[in-house]
Amino acid sequence: MSKETKGTGLSRRDFVKTMGLAGLAAGAGASQALAAPPAGAKAATIPKRKLGKTGVEVSILNLGGMFDTINNQLLLKQARKWGVTYWDTAESYGNGLSEEGMGRYFSRNPGSREEIFLVTKLVPKKGNLTARLEKSLKRLKTDHVDLFFIHAICGIEEMTPAIREWAAAMKKAGKFKFFGFSTHTDMENCLAGAAKLDWIDAVMMTYNFRLMHKPKMKAAVAACVKAGIGLVAMKTQGGGPVTCDSEAELKMAGRFLEKGFTDKQARLKAVWENPHIASICSQMPNLTILGANVAAARDLTKLSRGDFESLQEYAQETACGYCAGCGRICMTALNGAVPVNEVMRCLMYRQDYGEPELARLTFAGLAPEVRERLATMDFTPAELACPQGLPIAQLMRQATEMLA
Ligand code: SF4
Repeated sequence: MSKETKGTGLSRRDFVKTMGLAGLAAGAGASQALAAPPAGAKAATIPKRKLGKTGVEVSILNLGGMFDTINNQLLLKQARKWGVTYWDTAESYGNGLSEEGMGRYFSRNPGSREEIFLVTKLVPKKGNLTARLEKSLKRLKTDHVDLFFIHAICGIEEMTPAIREWAAAMKKAGKFKFFGFSTHTDMENCLAGAAKLDWIDAVMMTYNFRLMHKPKMKAAVAACVKAGIGLVAMKTQGGGPVTCDSEAELKMAGRFLEKGFTDKQARLKAVWENPHIASICSQMPNLTILGANVAAARDLTKLSRGDFESLQEYAQETACGYCAGCGRICMTALNGAVPVNEVMRCLMYRQDYGEPELARLTFAGLAPEVRERLATMDFTPAELACPQGLPIAQLMRQATEMLA
């Protein structure tokens, strides 16, 4: 064990103390604590992986920008210093404020923009895409982003010929180098559909220890790999709108602590065990979480079969508290009246991430008529259709009470 944690400027004792103890008190949206250093080897900095056919080597941990980047300039600085050189933002994060914070960092730190693989995203339904992209670039203080995602698609049919033409034009104009989409709804079908389109460079999707072993997900990922599509995982902690008490959780946490890392770090490592996942997008709104996740990324210890079994046992015991993103199922059951999994995502931000403001803002982004329906609608058909057995009606009412 070295006396100084390489690249952090902190002694190992201080680093563990700072990240470990503070982490235990932090929110639960990402890895929380850095435990004692594991016996395994450590990379000098965050490893990189190739992002599919783009050929670009990106850091396996990337900074999700859904937090106050304007007032967290030091965090951006530390992320870069620790080798988190892939940053992800979106027009909708803080209504442009996330982009503005990153732009402020680039303008105040000459040479930093060139080091960062920068991604932003737009939802296509709200007005002129080109004009909005220009505004995003202006906020980011750059003339291009490296990768552009159409934000949060629910089905591959949203990748229309018009979007294809637009993407080609923007690439030609130098506004972005690579193009793709993000999705946390019906991910498996979106991925399978992307594999059939030769104009998608990369996809960011919900992917975690709960979903990665499902045959449909495995087949969709394999199809994308074959097509050369770069894959980025998000929502890797597998948190849900409900927190279930689980004996398996205690067992799992104890097992990983003995190995020198937390179960939150183990969840990241489970995703990295798939070499085809180029990077994990993680919300790391404070140095505690950033430090813990960086430590997990640098730790080269492999998870064992027993570790995966432990995660699986936990996944099974808590399945009824996890919304699997199969939004088409409940939406169809309700004739499209309520995007149940979007509301579930708001609850997840509140309950699992411990981010009430983010939850409230995301909830406020739903159409007013949808929010009104939540308190009165009969959700029985959706509950009968839900493969996870979620108490949808109860959760929709709870969302109204907590987030309206
Ligand atoms: S509520 Fe159930 S059916 Fe709807 S997306 Fe979540 S898990 Fe799937």
